[in-house]
Amino acid sequence: MKARISPQAQMVLGILSQRCCHLTAEEILDSLDGIGAATVYRALERLTELGLVRKLSIGRKSAVYELARGNHLHFVCRQCGEVYDIPADFCGMVCEAAKCCGHQTQWVEVTAHGLCKGCRQSSLQAESATASNS
Ligand SMILES: [Zn+2]
Ligand SMILES: [Zn+2]
Repeated sequence: MKARISPQAQMVLGILSQRCCHLTAEEILDSLDGIGAATVYRALERLTELGLVRKLSIGRKSAVYELARGNHLHFVCRQCGEVYDIPADFCGMVCEAAKCCGHQTQWVEVTAHGLCKGCRQSSLQAESATASNS
């Protein structure tokens, strides 16, 4: 059975699959012409319900949305709040552990926290700048 989704929801889905990254509702809204905020929020809610889109409330930005796809974990930068995909799969391990407690896992979300590549580089540069000044 194929779930019925509105043309607006199709467009939201299109943006997410095209960009293939984590977008806030505002960013999705910006990429779509002529669609109201309420419609985009409703479409995102529906797509999340259907399991086509995942909502991630991680990082310092508002919730981000991504296309539900293969299991991967997320890295959140504590400095810029950006969310990155890390191609690692803990799903089997987590599913097994949950099964031992009698739970049935649908999907697994693992988040790593730290400093991203870009922020690491700029903090290293800032450090060396202060070091040469003294
Ligand atoms: Zn960062
Ligand atoms: Zn992701």
